[in-house]
Amino acid sequence: MIGIDEALDAVLAEVRPLGAERVPLLEALGRACAATVVSPEAVPGFANSAMDGFALRGEDLAEGRREFAVVAEIPAGRPSARHLFAGEAAKIMTGAPLPPGADTVVPVELTVALEAGVLVTDPPAPGSNVRLAGEDLTPGDRLLEPGDRVGPAEIGLLASVGVETLPVTRRPRVAILATGSELVAPGQPLASGQIRNSNSFTAYAQVLEAGGDPILLGIARDDAAETRRLLAAALEQDVVLTSGGVSVGEFDFVKQVQEELGVERRFWGVKTKPGKPLAFGVREGTLVFGVPGNPVASMVSFELYIRPAVLALQRRRDLYRPYVTAAAAEPVKAAKERAELRRCRVAREGGRWRFTTTGPQGSGILRSMALAQGLAIVPARHPGGAAGQELTVQLLEGSAEERPPYPV
Ligand code: AMP
Ligand code: MG
Repeated sequence: MIGIDEALDAVLAEVRPLGAERVPLLEALGRACAATVVSPEAVPGFANSAMDGFALRGEDLAEGRREFAVVAEIPAGRPSARHLFAGEAAKIMTGAPLPPGADTVVPVELTVALEAGVLVTDPPAPGSNVRLAGEDLTPGDRLLEPGDRVGPAEIGLLASVGVETLPVTRRPRVAILATGSELVAPGQPLASGQIRNSNSFTAYAQVLEAGGDPILLGIARDDAAETRRLLAAALEQDVVLTSGGVSVGEFDFVKQVQEELGVERRFWGVKTKPGKPLAFGVREGTLVFGVPGNPVASMVSFELYIRPAVLALQRRRDLYRPYVTAAAAEPVKAAKERAELRRCRVAREGGRWRFTTTGPQGSGILRSMALAQGLAIVPARHPGGAAGQELTVQLLEGSAEERPPYPV
């Protein structure tokens, strides 16, 4: 059996980034940019006022002048062509173009209205409160690089320079197949001995969150022929995720069927708890993951290996979850031969991170995952001990370029 790093490296070695497609700007949300995007426009496009106040010549203020005749009023969107000469000011609103001749704006708060003009009570430095043309961006400035995630700020930035469409990497299609004769879809009655299929739902949500395109293929009973039929259809996608049936049980057909369908095995088994019987292979570029059926094991396997792969397929560089080093708020239980990933909450206390595990850690207890903000990583054969021990906690949100330090 291999460790987390080795498994992750084996997975990422098989990733061939997907091609690009051009989409309307709003549809780019959450996707990865596929090209270098440069600004076609300058921002601001023209010198404008940063405040509501009076535009005038800074030179006048420098010479000690305090009283000005107000010769124009300039709302946003309505440029004034009236040139300002010595002793003249224009009432101006935030965002309105500076009139010719003016280079300074005195905020209204620093003035007193006079009968036919304005008195500056507190003169700002010449040039103040003006946003210059091209101050934020000039045409040709690089806005996005290939692999950058497009979030709300990026969408706004692109809109601010008139970009209407964006090349993004195609969303990886991830086929999701649950295996298990005991599984029943929500909405169906539960007969004796049956349980609900939750893995397909968590996987669907995890794929979506990673920018992928999840495709639900339903439930395969623990039957080699049925598993083969459904898995064969799944192999057309970029990634296949089957849950369950990958252990050493009598009815665990997934590995056998993968092999029959020509999936080249890269590894089976990772030295972690949960997540040990993970099977990974490839077939004609398709990444094929058989994750264990226990709901927490299935989710944790996704977090550790499939999420980075789905992001890498999109050319993202931030493949990993952020991590913190946190002190245990409770005694730490010893770990045996496998590294353990314990669901926990994290909080900042007195300048350091602390973590608290979320109750019973059985790999079937999905509630421990729902309550969790992170996975505390206990190295194999960790002796355990009193509260205060520091461990790496991989968070369950966010993205980072740096891989968490996994134990060997
Ligand atoms: P397996 O890996 O098939 O041996 O399954 C391990 C455990 O996870 C068993 O208790 C299964 O009933 C459970 N399990 C398997 N698949 C799912 C699923 N899709 N949703 C919820 N629990 C599952
Ligand atoms: Mg099973």
